[in-house]
Amino acid sequence: MYQNDTIAAIATALGESAIGIVRLSGSESVEIANRIFKGTNLIEVPSHTIHYGHIINPKIEQVIDEVMVSVMRAPRSYTTEDSVEINCHGGVVAIQRVLEMVLANGARIAQPGEFTQRAFLNGRIDLSQAEAVMDLIQSRTSKAMDASISQLNGSLRRKIQQLRHEMLQTLAQVEVTIDYPEYDDVEELSLQEMNQTALSVKQQIEQILQQSQQGRIFREGIQTAIIGRPNVGKSSLMNRLTGYDKAIVTDIEGTTRDTIEEYVNIRGVPLHLIDTAGIRETEEVVEQIGVEKSRAVMEQADFIILMLNASEALNEMDRELLDLTKDYPRVILLNKQDLTPQVTVEDILDYAASDEIITTSLLTEAGIDQLEERIEEYFFQGDLKSRDVNYLLNTRHTELLRQASAALDEVVASTEMGIPVDLIQIDYTHAWDLLGEIIGENVQDELLNKLFSQFCLGK
Ligand code: GDP
Ligand code: ZN
Repeated sequence: MYQNDTIAAIATALGESAIGIVRLSGSESVEIANRIFKGTNLIEVPSHTIHYGHIINPKIEQVIDEVMVSVMRAPRSYTTEDSVEINCHGGVVAIQRVLEMVLANGARIAQPGEFTQRAFLNGRIDLSQAEAVMDLIQSRTSKAMDASISQLNGSLRRKIQQLRHEMLQTLAQVEVTIDYPEYDDVEELSLQEMNQTALSVKQQIEQILQQSQQGRIFREGIQTAIIGRPNVGKSSLMNRLTGYDKAIVTDIEGTTRDTIEEYVNIRGVPLHLIDTAGIRETEEVVEQIGVEKSRAVMEQADFIILMLNASEALNEMDRELLDLTKDYPRVILLNKQDLTPQVTVEDILDYAASDEIITTSLLTEAGIDQLEERIEEYFFQGDLKSRDVNYLLNTRHTELLRQASAALDEVVASTEMGIPVDLIQIDYTHAWDLLGEIIGENVQDELLNKLFSQFCLGK
């Protein structure tokens, strides 16, 4: 039977724009939004009105984002249910945090296409319309991205399978205890085993959550710092990659005032580009600040684009930046190839490997294809993995893992209180189900198969 619980999701494609919408649908939408909204009392506002305010973490009164919230009451909404749309302004990270706050306050993460499904089930749209919307949603993800997601998910799937296997051993053991309650020591053993397994699996779940940097990369993009001394062409590159003039390009050294950040999609790879502020190099002191600034930006970078000016001899700052970036995944652009070269690839080989260097010109666009190729390579060919990045988690995965972890906490607490094993089993099985949901495995069949093969219950 169809349930009218309240679902939530990010309704805009990540990385494509600075604003994003978190959408809620279901009978508690307005109440949930109101719990985390500071501004007007949403419960009292008329339908189809929009309200300015802030999303806060109500527990600690911390502001998360400045937002506009629109309230649409049933039946005049896309799903025909009470709906709320939170328009966030703080960028990708803020949107994610707003969604997390919504989930922490009573909504459930929507399955892909679930809003449309509801619209369909509630008679708001017909099946062909629903399918058209689904196609649209799916065409947003590029093929390359799909491939990488399934590839990276392989490791998550294997890990979850391993955890569930571990849990199943214990579950099978407990099943026997319940069937033969006359053996007390068997029950004691089961309790101990459940306690141990729950603790171990919980720890591993926490580890997965920690190691899901990949999830961060999908949410926030690969943090990519463009560094180089003033006037090498950083802002020009930024503009070329974003496709529009946001960074100010000038002939005057050091005119890029602040760090400029932008999300771009290079061949299906989400990048969060950071153009480091230009610093005048006339005074040595100021130049040092430039290096320090680059260092600070680099600290948070996954990937570095170091730019050099081929039309001028290498100077001290160039050499310092070459040295500073040598242990990072990086690409070195020898830019302004169209001018008379003063520096060649050979000159840089003392500081870098040849496959790190690309000669470019932002005037003629030479080398830009190669740069894009290198970014693609970095993303798809495992460089990322070498930096402790093991799992790709989307919000649904994260949510299920958190729930499983919480259920296991219950198990641990219950085993320590000596609660009867068949009661503890409920939480335990729940955790196991939740993990199964991540990889979409049929819970019931698997359990039965396992039990039959191991214990021949039907005999
Ligand atoms: P930034 O200080 O590193 O951000 O450098 P900008 O992007 O502001 O560029 C400084 C100047 O160099 C501008 O006049 C650009 O038009 C010019 N420039 C950038 N790339 C190239 C290039 O490949 N060839 C030539 N000839 N000029 C370039
Ligand atoms: Zn600049």
